[in-house]
Order: sequence, then C-alpha cells, then structure tokens
Amino acid sequence: MKPLLITIDGPAGAGKTTVSRELARQLSYTYVDTGALYRGIAVAARDAGVPPDDEPGVAALAGTVALAFTKTASGPRLVLNGMDITDEIRSPDITMAASRISAQPAVRKSLMGLQRRLGKEKGVVFEGRDMGTVVFPDADVKFYLDADLKIRATRRYRELRSKTPAQDLDAVEEQMKIRDRNDSSRRIAPLRPAEDAVTIDSTDLTAAAVVRLMISVIRQKFP
Ligand code: C5P
Repeated sequence: MKPLLITIDGPAGAGKTTVSRELARQLSYTYVDTGALYRGIAVAARDAGVPPDDEPGVAALAGTVALAFTKTASGPRLVLNGMDITDEIRSPDITMAASRISAQPAVRKSLMGLQRRLGKEKGVVFEGRDMGTVVFPDADVKFYLDADLKIRATRRYRELRSKTPAQDLDAVEEQMKIRDRNDSSRRIAPLRPAEDAVTIDSTDLTAAAVVRLMISVIRQKFP
C-alpha cells in the first residue's frame, strides 16, 4: 500500500491521541500531535511574559520560536528552543492558554506552514482540530472522532489524575466545554468534520475497537 496521509480531528477527550498513536504504530507511520504545537506556543508566551490575549506579542513569538518533534524510543518529544517541554504542555494553565491563542490568525498561519512541511513526508497520522478541513484538505483518509461530553471529561479526568494534582471532574468537564466552544465558534479553522470525513463515535468503543474500525475504512479505500 502506498504511504498515506491520514487525519484525525475531533473535540478534546474523544480519544484522538491514543487512537492516532496506535494507528500510526500498526501502520508503521509517523504520528503528529498538532495540539502539542499550539501548547508549545502557549509555553513560549508564558516564558516570555506575553499574556495569551496579547495578539501582536503572541504573533511575534509564533514567527520566531523553534518548535520541533524529536523521535525517541518512548515516542515523540516536543522541543522548544532546544528545551524538552513534552511534559509541561499538559498542565491545566497551558491547556487553557493554548485554547485562547489557537483562535489567533498569525498563530494558525505559522503552525500551518510547519504542519504542511511535516506532511511532505507521507505515511503520517495527523491529529488535531482542522487537519482534514484546512491544513490537509487533500488528505487520503479523514476521520472525525467524537464522544459524549461526560465520557470525554471522565477520560481526561482519569488521565490528569495520574499526572497532575487532582482537579475535580466538574472542573475538567467545565474546561472541556469552554475549549470545545472556543474551537467550534472561532472564525478561522473552526472545529467541524470535513465533508469527506468518516465520523466515529467512541462513546461506547474501546480505543482498540476504534483503531480496528479505522483500519477497515483505510483498507476499503486503499485495498
Ligand atoms: O489537542 P489538544 O487538546 O492538545 O489541543 C490543544 C488546543 O490547541 C485545543 O484546545 C485547540 O484550541 C488547539 N488546536 C487547534 N487546532 C489543532 C490542534 C489543536 O486549534 N489542529
């Protein structure tokens, strides 16, 4: 099978990361988490003392920071100006800051260039919000992964509990709602399924079942 470019979009907590990683592993493809790039810009802004709502300040940073993924045995690491920031991008503060800066045109433009460069290498699974609609409208296979808000919040809560100081489930659900609203209502590249995306609802499915479904969709399209 020729190497493909596969996109997986959807709201927070739908299981995109787990599924994208596993799909990429099974196909021996590269996996790119584009949300990590928005989070990376949020870290750069925080470190430079630029508030997330200072559009010109964030735009200047987005044009100059060096953000890159490095491959390691335990998975991709995100490096910002030479520093590994893979773990710190998951904090609740950075999560909300990334959501705010992601509506800014200059940030989206600079990350679009980076994402398209990464897409030149085929055999890639891209995970994000606008991969199939805006960044790669000609992707070979597009998925939109969704799930009930309560289920998504519970999944994220369990994941966060093992990493960061306990946040209660209601707070996680509330933040998720705000992020979904920001992502779906922004003017540029709002979160929505591409017209030619295959939508999968993961509410009652395990990650393994979602990956099996995706592989069967891919094999049908590219026998
Ligand atoms: O996927 P993740 O939750 O890590 O993304 C963090 C934030 O980055 C999202 O809330 C969203 O606002 C933004 N994002 C985006 N477009 C993408 C990926 C992420 O706007 N392709």
